[in-house]
Amino acid sequence: MQLAMRSVGHFIGGEEIAASGETQAIWNPATGEQQGAVALGGAAEADAAVTAAARAFDAWALRSPSQRANVLFRFRELMHANLDRLAALVTAEHGKTRDDARAEVLRGLDVVDFACGIPQLLKGEFNAGVSREIDAYALRQPLGVCVGITPFNFPAMVPMWMFPVALACGNTFVLKPSERDPSLGIEMAKLLREAGLPSGVFNVVNGGAAAVDALIAHCETAAVSFVGSTPIARRVFETANAHRKRVQALGGAKNHLVVMPDAEMDATVEALVGAAYGSAGERCMAISVAVAVGDATADELVARIVARLETLRVDAGDVPDVEMGPLVTREHRDRVASYIALGEQEGASLVVDGREHAAAQRAGFFLGPTLFDRVTSSMRIYREEIFGPVLCVVRVPSLDAALELIADHEYGNGAAIFTRDGAHARYFERRVTAGMVGINVAIPVPMAFNSFGGWKSSLFGDHHVHGPEGVRFYTRLKSVTARWSESPDRQGFSMPTSGS
Ligand code: NAD
Repeated sequence: MQLAMRSVGHFIGGEEIAASGETQAIWNPATGEQQGAVALGGAAEADAAVTAAARAFDAWALRSPSQRANVLFRFRELMHANLDRLAALVTAEHGKTRDDARAEVLRGLDVVDFACGIPQLLKGEFNAGVSREIDAYALRQPLGVCVGITPFNFPAMVPMWMFPVALACGNTFVLKPSERDPSLGIEMAKLLREAGLPSGVFNVVNGGAAAVDALIAHCETAAVSFVGSTPIARRVFETANAHRKRVQALGGAKNHLVVMPDAEMDATVEALVGAAYGSAGERCMAISVAVAVGDATADELVARIVARLETLRVDAGDVPDVEMGPLVTREHRDRVASYIALGEQEGASLVVDGREHAAAQRAGFFLGPTLFDRVTSSMRIYREEIFGPVLCVVRVPSLDAALELIADHEYGNGAAIFTRDGAHARYFERRVTAGMVGINVAIPVPMAFNSFGGWKSSLFGDHHVHGPEGVRFYTRLKSVTARWSESPDRQGFSMPTSGS
């Protein structure tokens, strides 16, 4: 799809604000050409957006949960009606295939579906007669202005992990999308407005670190949700804490898939190749390490992956039947390619070199799939997140050795095991040090009505996103103790007890 050169500004107080001042190029990853520019907002835009959101808060919070859900129902319908257009925009700016782009919008809409159930989700607790003529109950109330800072790899889904639940709970919201693929933020803001969301309830500030810093430090900001790389997640977490904001900051990953000797090899290889190379490996739940238990398992696995990679279709995301698109920017492609060179220097066995793939010779930001065998835990290609189509095979002698490898890794987002043995699967599930576990499922991303989050350096903060954890994060608890007396007795000096 050809999209005209466009300029992406901000969305504040129900209005689109044209880009002005400093801007950054938006690239077309499939051609390597510039297709637009995005405004790089700073303190002024952050202040305008948070102030608009703070002004809108009281009226929005006072609406009933059903009234808020009704707006989300209409937003849901509008998103479905615009699905193809939105998916095309994701492909144009991110590079992922059209099917994958549609799937990400739909997975985001699952969270909208979940948030539409907010009247049920916000039902409180009530304890009648906890003491004489006293009832006790708990309310979950919204926090105020919530800020969401999101990464490039899911420009539709990750914002929808956050704002549908935040808005349904009665908060107002400021989204700061990735500057590399910023258009979906504004598009969703316009559809929320069309769905009847009052001005100021949802705002978008585009930009980079300066906008993020100003949004976090703002005195009217109540809470910060962040998803991105670990160094920035850690920094956002610490800055938000210093400003006494509630914060959840999801970081990077290095997800392991353990292949047991009894695994069903055809299904394992198909799942592994999709999980490692889908979306060019630019997924926080991508599998970047295959842990083969035993040399015979590793030899068979590597041979089968090599055979499958020979038929993997790499092309622009809007080409029919394509399986893998380009990387998001030239800079990122070059960074991933530098890790391939590093792996060779570190002594890993480079079985398939994506730099030599025909697509990698084209003008866009392409790299072919890359496979390393005999990777060890001391190598940087194993320890660091590459975030590209590079799969490392590590050979271990046993399931316990695989678990130890995972436990020693800095990240703990997802981990999977492929086996036909239920006892091994259960042993793994109980002991593995990761927040999301797959059993014969390579990418175990929880559905919207469950919560998503990793362990260790993959998540800073106590709450996972969406599902019940999302409702907890975007509300604060209030416990009420109420006495409505049927007799004129005065309350005494001593503490009432449950027996009095
Ligand atoms: P990134 O950390 O570069 O950027 C994320 C956001 O932070 C963007 O909005 C960006 O503008 C902002 N940002 C960048 N530099 C900043 C700075 N110095 N100070 C404050 N804000 C700054 O991440 P990315 O490259 O856009 O996304 C890829 C990363 O996100 C990968 O590490 C991936 O694993 C991670 N990710 C994690 C999850 C998860 O659920 N754990 C999900 C998706 C992506």
